Amino acid sequence: MQGHCLCGGVRFEISGKVSRLYQCHCSMCRRVSGSSANAAMIVGRGQFEWLAGEELIERYATKSGWQSHFCRRCGSPVPNSTRGESAWWVPVGLLEDSAELELGAHLFVGSKANWERIADAGVHFDEMPDRDELDRLLRRDRV
Ligand SMILES: [Zn+2]
Ligand SMILES: [Zn+2]
Repeated sequence: MQGHCLCGGVRFEISGKVSRLYQCHCSMCRRVSGSSANAAMIVGRGQFEWLAGEELIERYATKSGWQSHFCRRCGSPVPNSTRGESAWWVPVGLLEDSAELELGAHLFVGSKANWERIADAGVHFDEMPDRDELDRLLRRDRV
C-alpha cells in the first residue's frame, strides 16, 4: 500500500497486514488537520519504508512533546516514527488505496467539536485509552 502527500514529494510504502484506524478528536489534532479529527494508524517498524522526499519533512513539537511532521512544500501531515522508534504513525488520508482500511476507535470524544457527529464505527473513548488496550482493539490478527 503506497501513500503520498498532496504535492507528491513525500512518498512511502506499507507492507503486510495493517491494524484498524483511529480518529483523534482532541483540540491539537483538530488544529493540525484543520478538521474535526485526524485519521491514522500505527504500523510496525518493519512494515514501513520511505520511497522519496524525506528531505522535505519538517517537524513541529510543543513543549509537552506532542509533535507533528509535515511536508514543507504542501503542508500535508506525514508519517513519523513513534513509541521510541518501534512503530510508525501514518495519517491514512495519504494512502492511495483505502479498500483494506477499517475504523477501530475514536479518541478524545469528550473534547470533540460541538458540531461534529461521529460515525458509528469504532469504540468511543472520552480521553486517551490505555495504550495496550488500544493496541489490542486495533489489532486485526488478534485471536
Ligand atoms: Zn508535499
Ligand atoms: Zn489528538
